[in-house]
Amino acid sequence: MSGGNTTVSIGIDLGGSKILTGLVDSRGRILVSDERATPARKSAGAVIRAILDSVHDVLGNGAIRISEVAAVGVGAAGISNPETGVVFASPNLPRWRDVPLKDMLQDKLGKKVFLINDANAAALGEFYFGAARGARDFIYITLSTGIGGGIVIGGRLYTGAIGCAGEIGHVTIDDNGPVCGCGNRGCWEALASGTALAEEAKRRIKEGAATSILRYAEGSMEKVTAQIIHKAAQNGDALAQELIGRTAYYVGVGLANLINIFNPELIVIGGGLSNIGDMLLHPAFKVAGQRAFKEAFQAVRFALAELGRNSGMLGAAAYALQKTRKRSRA
Ligand SMILES: [Zn+2]
Repeated sequence: MSGGNTTVSIGIDLGGSKILTGLVDSRGRILVSDERATPARKSAGAVIRAILDSVHDVLGNGAIRISEVAAVGVGAAGISNPETGVVFASPNLPRWRDVPLKDMLQDKLGKKVFLINDANAAALGEFYFGAARGARDFIYITLSTGIGGGIVIGGRLYTGAIGCAGEIGHVTIDDNGPVCGCGNRGCWEALASGTALAEEAKRRIKEGAATSILRYAEGSMEKVTAQIIHKAAQNGDALAQELIGRTAYYVGVGLANLINIFNPELIVIGGGLSNIGDMLLHPAFKVAGQRAFKEAFQAVRFALAELGRNSGMLGAAAYALQKTRKRSRA
């Protein structure tokens, strides 16, 4: 590949289960990519070695040198400070505590590295290349095993005082609700995520509820997932339908909160749970409409995320490129 006229950057999506790395051009085209498992239970050093191996594979397969790459961006799971480049803690990387990820990667790569949170990276991916192109004020949410988000105000990612903004999955919906992974009770994520849906199904099955859900899970409680519950619901299982309705209700409550706080023009919804589609989203939008201010609700548009699993990687690459350009102009 000739570095020539095309500006390319590297985007890295560091999650608890996988590392996704891509060589991306300035129009969001993925030229080469690499995916590998995150050694999440090992030390931070082992994870960083895996990231470096992934970057070197992408460079090798793209026949390009690191010196020809404009910038490197990382979207990392967990709470981090984009200014200092330190990941404070990450529920998906249990051994991480105050890891200076940006400095460590910069030292090894000899290239400027920019760090943001993974959901913020996904929001930027949709902003530059996906469902939020052209939007100025929008919220990105990912409904998945947890709930993450990114807030864009006036065309800029809002990161807060120390970079922790946008943790919308951890706003309290029910003060006496189930315990969340963050330690708090009744967070949005503890009530409306795919994990919450599966946990509630397991609880009801253990109580002896009449349902076919277990049959779809090959009789194994561990195999009860949001996807399995969706399948049972599609085939008429009353409990599965009730549980998806319950999840939709809580999704709607959280959406109403976001609409009343931010008055966004657009809410982009991604994540595996959103694949349930209308059965989940229609009732959720209805609940949001009943609870939010009417004018604000009428002003918001909902859209499904367009970039799927590549959103974080693409957003991290674009973020790094944009930061580099700002620096070179300054
Ligand atoms: Zn929480």
